[in-house]
Amino acid sequence: MSVEITLESVSNGPVERTEKVLTDHFQSRLGSDLEALGESFEVAFEATLYTNVLYVKGNVHGRMGFQCSRCGERREMTVDTAFSHSYVPTGQMNHGDEEEIELSEQDIDCSEHDGVKVDIESLCIDHMLVDLPLAPACSIEDDGPCANFADGPVQFGDNHPLEPKETPWMKAIRGVKLS
Ligand SMILES: [Zn+2]
Repeated sequence: MSVEITLESVSNGPVERTEKVLTDHFQSRLGSDLEALGESFEVAFEATLYTNVLYVKGNVHGRMGFQCSRCGERREMTVDTAFSHSYVPTGQMNHGDEEEIELSEQDIDCSEHDGVKVDIESLCIDHMLVDLPLAPACSIEDDGPCANFADGPVQFGDNHPLEPKETPWMKAIRGVKLS
């Protein structure tokens, strides 16, 4: 499974498509606190061919389950990540003399195509994963258990009956406090 775009398919003008990326393909790359929901995420994109440079832009859309890093509650969030990328013909990534290379944004989001087709699946997955919050928490919008405490100090577990298991080091710290 992949999300392929043939250069031929866009030779007569921009093409808009919507494809699926199976959650199986990236579930193992998610942290233990995150879980992709459903069988697939949706990728909506537009592909345009400028002479021999293929330009693709679009959005990755799906639902992700997570554990709120503030209150510990299981929550769900919407993932909607924009991406854009240019594919140039093989060999045209080289800009000649090294001193002429500038790391503009265009260069970073650019790779090569083989003249026949590209597969944007891994590109979409990478953009989506990088865009995920490091410490997802209840938001005001989704009215999660600790959403109204967003500006105040909250301790992990405060709004949830969940009792975190006491680890040896927690015991040790408590011992220090008591002594
Ligand atoms: Zn929360």
